[in-house]
Amino acid sequence: MILHIDMDAFFASIEQAVNPRLKGKPLIVGSRDNKMHTVVCAASYEAKALGIDSGMPSFAAFKLCPKLEFVAADQSKYIWTSEEIFRLLKDYQFQLNYASIDEFQMDIKSHPQPQELANDIKSKIYKNFKITASIGVAKNWLLAKLASKLNKPNGITIITEENLLSVLKKTPAERLCGVGKSTTKIIHNLGLKTCLDLYQKDADFLEKNLGQNGLNLYVSLHSTDSFETDNQETKPKSVGHSYTLPRATKTPRFIQAWLRLLAEMVAQRLRQKNLISETIFLWLNGPEIGNFTAQKTFTQATNDGFEIYSRALKIMAQIGQESPKIRAFGITCSKLTTSSYPLLFNEQKRRGALTKAMDTINNRHGENTIFPAITIITKENL
Ligand SMILES: [Mg+2]
Repeated sequence: MILHIDMDAFFASIEQAVNPRLKGKPLIVGSRDNKMHTVVCAASYEAKALGIDSGMPSFAAFKLCPKLEFVAADQSKYIWTSEEIFRLLKDYQFQLNYASIDEFQMDIKSHPQPQELANDIKSKIYKNFKITASIGVAKNWLLAKLASKLNKPNGITIITEENLLSVLKKTPAERLCGVGKSTTKIIHNLGLKTCLDLYQKDADFLEKNLGQNGLNLYVSLHSTDSFETDNQETKPKSVGHSYTLPRATKTPRFIQAWLRLLAEMVAQRLRQKNLISETIFLWLNGPEIGNFTAQKTFTQATNDGFEIYSRALKIMAQIGQESPKIRAFGITCSKLTTSSYPLLFNEQKRRGALTKAMDTINNRHGENTIFPAITIITKENL
């Protein structure tokens, strides 16, 4: 059985927990600090009750409630809390998976008392962080995730073999993860309304009408004990690339171009494996500096080439020389996790979309069909 933990109004709840003045009040967390010109990235339950929810422009939220409390998002606070919750959950010694920054999945096998276990988890989280979670338990991740949404906030829903069909019957199909607007339209046209309607269709039917999505849906609905993402055992400990030049150089733009290229190569491999990395290890070799190695761990894990490159430059600054002569470079990323945090801020979203487009083109037309312009410098003669 999978136990799915979904934190309630996570960012807003954290802000209310750290600032008692905000408790019990309608509150929105904005992705930028200009409160009238941003987007709601989380709303407290008091705000949700007024019809305010994430994704809404903040001015529209203020229209609904002029006295709304506002806090600009503080991502490091949320990531810290998320990681602390993950640590707390690890103590239960079940196989554990990050589903998103505020969702966690545990494979509790055939635990005899899931209700007690869920209660215990909820009260531990509350005791430590003064925020609530909703928990769902079911035979697989998709149904457990669905269950976690059925009694929000601060609820527990357990889907057993006995109540499975009745729970699915009273739940609209679009509440299932993966059933978006366009899928909903198609299945409504087919006369399917509830999760049970979907559950009772066979794989061929779903594939014929919904393509690969339909097949995935069938497998996710009927499988047992699987996690949302691949299990962590098969993931590598680190991913790295290195390169040695024909001779040493001290031209900064050349060195930067090579670091950027290595960073892009490493980032691409991380993305292929659906991994993000916290720790960057930099190795440089040159006639004056000899072997320079240093590593640094950052609070926010990444698989973005530009970000890895920027972090490598920060580490390189530790050498303390203006432009050292360099012959060889290596960048290695470690402390890898399969977690995928939502991209909160516009700049990150923009970069995320760019990276995705680059990967799509390079996967279709061959590696390095498109690449960051700076790396072209690596093709120049020294
Ligand atoms: Mg949540």
